[in-house]
Amino acid sequence: MKIICIGRNYAKHIEELANEKPDNPVVFLKPDSAILPKKMPFFIPPFSDDIHYEVEILVKINKVGKYIDEKFAPKYYDEIGLGIDLTARDIQAQCKAKGLPWEKAKAFDGSAVIGNFYPKEQFDLDNLKFQLLQNEVLVQDGNTNAMLWKIDELIAYVSQYFTLKKGDVIFTGTPAGVGKVATNDILVGKIENYEAFNIKVK
Ligand code: ZN
Repeated sequence: MKIICIGRNYAKHIEELANEKPDNPVVFLKPDSAILPKKMPFFIPPFSDDIHYEVEILVKINKVGKYIDEKFAPKYYDEIGLGIDLTARDIQAQCKAKGLPWEKAKAFDGSAVIGNFYPKEQFDLDNLKFQLLQNEVLVQDGNTNAMLWKIDELIAYVSQYFTLKKGDVIFTGTPAGVGKVATNDILVGKIENYEAFNIKVK
């Protein structure tokens, strides 16, 4: 499986990182080796002093598809989840400054926290609340109603470039409030009233 990530999908997050608003979704990939194994802590890697959390709504693809029309996109997913796109912000800043690819900052081992998935029918996908709590303090408070590109638009867009396969996961971008993780942090993610993940940082 592969992980397809969307960058800069919430206006307030674009502002907080002083990025330009893109004309099209920013897309990057993480390999399956980036997935943090279930029930394992996240170990801060030795190459970074500035690992940031980015809580994001996830979409799990349920069948193969390419050039998917936006109106047919709902047929390609049954489940919505929540995860964290862990980012080495210091490495990413170096990559950005040199115009280099982001993989070292975004696709390293453990950088993809994938929490629980839930049937999409139980949510209003255009008005879905999700949150990240760091040591019980609310640090990111998102709602899909602030997405620049909605889930179905993202599926249509990315499937022009990448054949989507069953089991692929799309990270749909983070809202404002990103910040640094520290040793011994507890990171809890919630969709509406469900606890989708609970991980420890070491
Ligand atoms: Zn992200």
